[in-house]
Amino acid sequence: MYCPNCAQPNVDSALTCSRCGASLPTQMYASSSTPAAYEKVDNNLVWAILATLFCCLPTGIVAIVYAAQVDSKVSAGDVAGARQSARNAATWSWVSLGLGLLFILLYFGLVAFSIGLSG
Ligand SMILES: [Zn+2]
Repeated sequence: MYCPNCAQPNVDSALTCSRCGASLPTQMYASSSTPAAYEKVDNNLVWAILATLFCCLPTGIVAIVYAAQVDSKVSAGDVAGARQSARNAATWSWVSLGLGLLFILLYFGLVAFSIGLSG
């Protein structure tokens, strides 16, 4: 890194020129990397709430708990943990959906069975 003021060669990590003391241009790598905290992680909260309302309450609440962890982990800089929580939220949403469909099928099965008994 050469000083723009006096052309003195300086080490790349230097903030000011070792000869004239002029402040050196900001290094490229310092500004190019995006802080991890600003990374967007989909928290799957909508799916968790829908699964809770329309399918299965206990597993839907588990999904909501995981979904709620996502945003707090992102703001804490724990992107890997946030992604893991988002995956758990999605998994439990699908479990809720599957259980909900199973209960609906069982319900209609029972209705059909009782109709068959009475008829
Ligand atoms: Zn200089």
